[in-house]
Amino acid sequence: MARVEDDGANGWTARHGERVYRTGLADRLFIQAALLYGRVVMPVAPLRIAVVGAGLGGLTAAVALHRAGFDVRVYEQAPELTEVGGGINMGPNAARVLYRLGLGDGLDREAVRPVSTHQRRWQDGRTLQRAPLNPRCEELYGAPHLTVHRADLLAIIASGFPRECVHLAHRLVGLDDRGDRVAARFENGVEATADILVGADGINSAVRGALLGEEAPRFAGCVAYRGLVPAERIVDLGLEIGSQSWVGPGGHFVHYFVSRGRLLNFVGWTEHDTWNREDWTDRATIARALAAFEGWHPQIRRIIAAADTCFIWALFDREPLPRWSVGRVTLLGDACHPMYPFMGQGAAQAIEDGATLAACLAAGGAGDPAKTLRRYEELRRPRVTRLQEMSRANKTRFHLPDGPAQEARDADWARAGDRSPEALRWLFEFDATVVPSG
Ligand SMILES: Cc1cc2nc3c(=O)[nH]c(=O)nc-3n(C[C@H](O)[C@H](O)[C@H](O)COP(=O)(O)OP(=O)(O)OC[C@H]3O[C@@H](n4cnc5c(N)ncnc54)[C@H](O)[C@@H]3O)c2cc1C
Repeated sequence: MARVEDDGANGWTARHGERVYRTGLADRLFIQAALLYGRVVMPVAPLRIAVVGAGLGGLTAAVALHRAGFDVRVYEQAPELTEVGGGINMGPNAARVLYRLGLGDGLDREAVRPVSTHQRRWQDGRTLQRAPLNPRCEELYGAPHLTVHRADLLAIIASGFPRECVHLAHRLVGLDDRGDRVAARFENGVEATADILVGADGINSAVRGALLGEEAPRFAGCVAYRGLVPAERIVDLGLEIGSQSWVGPGGHFVHYFVSRGRLLNFVGWTEHDTWNREDWTDRATIARALAAFEGWHPQIRRIIAAADTCFIWALFDREPLPRWSVGRVTLLGDACHPMYPFMGQGAAQAIEDGATLAACLAAGGAGDPAKTLRRYEELRRPRVTRLQEMSRANKTRFHLPDGPAQEARDADWARAGDRSPEALRWLFEFDATVVPSG
């Protein structure tokens, strides 16, 4: 049954099942059909949803919720939309969501489609496993595997959301659930109310702190050296457009192309017992990164040396949370499930969260927001908890010292592999935009 609603602010909205159409030529035709065949309900204002945090997760949620017909506002602490760091490895499970949100043109323009994933030994470069990625992922799962610069990805996602609905320089400092709505207070003195508030404010989430109490994240025992190398500087290496990951004692090194193939992104991980926060100001020098990978394969050292600069990034972690939602407030992405990046799925899961949240709210309607948010959380928690655990296990597996355990791991990878699109079926074929009934 179709329903047509005057939303009071933006004109007419027609709903048919989970689909929501807004005014426009095609929509007017739909509305006429709905008027002929459906029930007419007016006026009904769409739910007002505040998303705190305009990272990859928050903005994806905003686009999905906006497209589902909700009245969405995004509040971001930074004075502009920015992403630090280099690349993102994005499996078909996340790419599918972004294509469904109409962001395919930008992805096709900026992202790279690596032909293979290749794991190698740290010292001699021996292949441990290698599998085709593209076009295999599209053949199997209807979406590509992408590698993309984080800033490009953020801009692509932001292009799907009205700019005037993003409020920059709004740092959330307090929350107040007033029963029928939630009020958010910002450092700049602004107060905003909404029917639902989504905390997408990252690992140090103020929303999570307000809901579940403050707790400092824990240093995960790893730091990353990250850099970008212009592709023309390493032509002599003859690298194919693929993703390579080198594993060795106490560390691993990953590289892949981003930005239409113009840049090679690298991330080199090493283990440390402690992390002195003062090191944050100690921007990593190329010499320091080279020292961290002393004795590793010449290709790795050549890549590091070709960068102009590199950044050091300490990895922090939290235990899985017992719940993400309280009343009209919920969490997504790193705010509720930060994970080691050793499955390449942190941002991907934040992107999936946004899609599922929008699908749940579109299906659940305005009647009982708290119930709908619990449903969203029930759907998402088992999957992200599994990935949090797998990512932690990979830290140990990738960093084994040379010896019997490493030999057993290598034999296992040679026999079965664990990175191929086929081996990751459960992860890649999952469609976060579809909410099972029940
Ligand atoms: C080295 C490294 C490599 C990685 N590689 C991959 C990869 O290959 N694939 C992958 O899928 N994931 C990867 N990840 C993980 C991924 O980067 C994160 O999981 C992802 O960025 C989380 O997105 P988010 O939107 O939840 O949080 P964030 O990106 O942290 O965004 C949070 C936003 O909220 C804003 N904010 C914070 N506090 C407030 C406040 N009080 N008020 C208002 N706004 C606020 C912040 O300014 C920020 O814009 C990697 C991570 C690291 C460290």
